[in-house]
Amino acid sequence: MREDIERILFTEAEMKQRVDELGAELTRDFGDKNPMFLGVLKGCFVFMADLIRRFDAPCTMDFMAVSSYGSGTSSTGAVKITKDLSQDIHGRHVIIVEDILDTGITLSYLKKYLQNRAPASITICTMFDKPERREVNIQADYCGFSIPNAFVVGYGLDYDEKYRNFPDLGILKEEVYR
Ligand code: 5GP
Repeated sequence: MREDIERILFTEAEMKQRVDELGAELTRDFGDKNPMFLGVLKGCFVFMADLIRRFDAPCTMDFMAVSSYGSGTSSTGAVKITKDLSQDIHGRHVIIVEDILDTGITLSYLKKYLQNRAPASITICTMFDKPERREVNIQADYCGFSIPNAFVVGYGLDYDEKYRNFPDLGILKEEVYR
């Protein structure tokens, strides 16, 4: 895997430290609110697993799956829910856990979709953010790292379902997907 990586942006140790900080911030802000962590599959699974173990208070969790990218590296603009919530979010404080915020199309669609189910609040927590790429007006409330406009893999993020198990976050060599 490592030979397909152009450059490592963040090591496993650096990401662990940042997730510790995010977990502490969320515990401070939601520790008395019994929030529901809502992971957006599949990319969130590594971040979600790390983050919820740093949340030091009662909470529940659920997952949704949306398709937006297919197997390529650029968005089609269309969002489809392929796995819906399995719990009622009415009156709950929902914390959406996302791997990466790119154009923002996925999260703005999801936020509107969830708002219709009358939660007490919706908060966005993303591990990575590519602000340069934004096409719709949406921001993360909590963000691990802002990154440059490049296609990254590892820490749960894939290219064509590969590299999700790569422990660091790296920029994929262009020759791999060209
Ligand atoms: P958005 O709707 O914000 O454009 O896209 C969000 C989704 O696109 C992410 O959840 C992720 O699945 C995918 N995505 C965006 N940028 C990257 C990237 O650099 N690498 C990978 N592997 N996926 C990305």
